[in-house]
Amino acid sequence: EREKEQMEKSQAKRRIVLAPIPGQGHVTPFMQLGKSLSLKGFSITVAQGQFNQVNPSQDFPEFQFVTLPESLPGSEFERLGPMKFLLKYNNTNEASFKDCIAQLLMQHGNDIACIIYDEFMYSCEAAAREFKIPCAIFTTTSAIDYVSCYIFSKLNLEKFSSDIEDPELKEKVVENLYPLRYKHLLPTGLGPLEPVMELRREIVNKRTASAFIVNTSSCLENSSLSWLQQELKIPVYPLGPVHISASAPSSLLKEDRSCIEWLNKQKPRSVIYISMGSFYHMETKEVLEMAWGLSNSNQPFLWVIRSGSIVNSFPDELSKMVSERGYIVKWAPQIEVLAHPSVGGFWSHCGWNSTLESIAEGVPMICRPFQDEQKLNAAYIESVWSVGIQLEGEVERGQVERAVKRLIVDEEGACMRERALVLKEKVKASVRDGGSSYNALDELIKYLETD
Ligand code: UDP
Repeated sequence: EREKEQMEKSQAKRRIVLAPIPGQGHVTPFMQLGKSLSLKGFSITVAQGQFNQVNPSQDFPEFQFVTLPESLPGSEFERLGPMKFLLKYNNTNEASFKDCIAQLLMQHGNDIACIIYDEFMYSCEAAAREFKIPCAIFTTTSAIDYVSCYIFSKLNLEKFSSDIEDPELKEKVVENLYPLRYKHLLPTGLGPLEPVMELRREIVNKRTASAFIVNTSSCLENSSLSWLQQELKIPVYPLGPVHISASAPSSLLKEDRSCIEWLNKQKPRSVIYISMGSFYHMETKEVLEMAWGLSNSNQPFLWVIRSGSIVNSFPDELSKMVSERGYIVKWAPQIEVLAHPSVGGFWSHCGWNSTLESIAEGVPMICRPFQDEQKLNAAYIESVWSVGIQLEGEVERGQVERAVKRLIVDEEGACMRERALVLKEKVKASVRDGGSSYNALDELIKYLETD
């Protein structure tokens, strides 16, 4: 029996093609998944567009990288906004991706076991169908986010847009899916609704992938995972957080490591770390209110302000305001920062990667979400795992000061930290030998090895 299994294994196809979209929050988990699969003996090809490319040189010598010749330039993202950009990105890439797969098949003698594509790179399915290669979705956001997109894609948009005006319906919890409320289904912060609907229908309703991989752990999102398992009718593999199983340095911006030296000089658990992810822009007024509140809290703070991320320009008075207690960098080695003993809290926009990274280090959070997906993550952080507090409405200095004190100084914050440490242990156990995420990865390997 064993020999037979070995024989089958050695004949199994060994190359996986990964197709991320060109955003930091997508590329990073893709490269981590790639590392995990590579450690299990698969060869990895990464197919990427022209911009926001991962630098293959030092960190991934064992991976093959190919560039899709006809992909859209990055300037189109600014011009079109995220939804229209993604629709166009897929249109442009479909033929390019097919050519790329045709070449890879020639080069590697048909040895492609699976195309694993980002949920937003749905045009990859055309190549998979044409060349009869299995394909799997990898969603780099939470399971509940996919559930919410799925439900939304089946709605009658016009009717729902008017129904949701009802305050009672707004706050109603979607059956069995707490903390998902009906209001969360209606996209906000993503521009006009039609392109959002068009994109979600492409992703959900035309899906032909035969497996669904998600960067979460069943100890975090059990109910959404059960829902997905029932509804999608294809195997679901919750194998995250992938950054714990395999580190894969894939920062698209240069990390400023000087902040680690600064952290070394601070007291244990005293620092609030602030980062809004890789593409959110802030208004000057909001930035200044934050700065006032942070200064008035009397706690040290480390703040990531990306180049060009403040609408208008970097306010001059900011440098003076932060000089005493604060430290600003353009981009930080985030996981290392969260793991630093001086860090006591994380003020985050609650992107899914940031959420997982904070949980994995047991750091409680101040949640300031901007879009639906982030709002859902924030709802989980505050009301399901109870490891953070939400800042709602317009940012105001007094509210910022109180939030920082609640998290870093008060008893309430200490309790959150305790719960965060318990959650950290659960999540870490899930990726260790015998844990649920570890087993899901094993199951995925078996799926990839079956023809
Ligand atoms: N990140 C980083 N340095 C920073 C800020 C962010 O390395 O200064 C990384 C962070 O660790 C995470 C990613 O950028 O892996 C952001 O992804 P997330 O899903 O949180 O948010 P998005 O950028 O997609 O909104």
